[in-house]
Amino acid sequence: MKTLTVSVVTPDGPVLEDDFEMVSCKAENGELGILPGHIPLVAPLTISAVRLKKGSTVEKVAVNGGFLEVRPEKVTILAQSAEKPSEIDVERAQKAKERAEQLLQSQKQDEVDFQRAELALKRAMNRLNITN
Ligand code: ATP
Repeated sequence: MKTLTVSVVTPDGPVLEDDFEMVSCKAENGELGILPGHIPLVAPLTISAVRLKKGSTVEKVAVNGGFLEVRPEKVTILAQSAEKPSEIDVERAQKAKERAEQLLQSQKQDEVDFQRAELALKRAMNRLNITN
């Protein structure tokens, strides 16, 4: 089975580098499935899970937006933050989710940055989703 090298990098350093048969991710324009030999491409990613297939296993990485760069034998994901399920502190994500939900339900509309709270909620939900 042909493979491509996948590298996930954040400002804190590399999160993952390994060979996989297929990469599935959510770009801002929709879902992308990348197989070896894919045409070169750059696409912005949403706050979402990247799925990496090798044999019968699928690894997941929670990415906080960022960019996907595809070359025929290499996929690079650059994100502000990215975590594998084993690296996720579930309690922290649960607290971040509750904090964001409270802000979004707040009656003090002038004081709340709703866009920021919505993004924080998406990050927390994304982390919780891949740990399940
Ligand atoms: P919080 O409000 O809990 O800080 P956040 O979504 O604002 O969450 P980010 O700004 O996305 O956090 O990330 C800051 C750093 O903390 C990154 O290195 C990220 O990987 C890490 N991080 C954030 N939440 C978690 C978590 N639940 N488990 C493990 N690492 C986390």
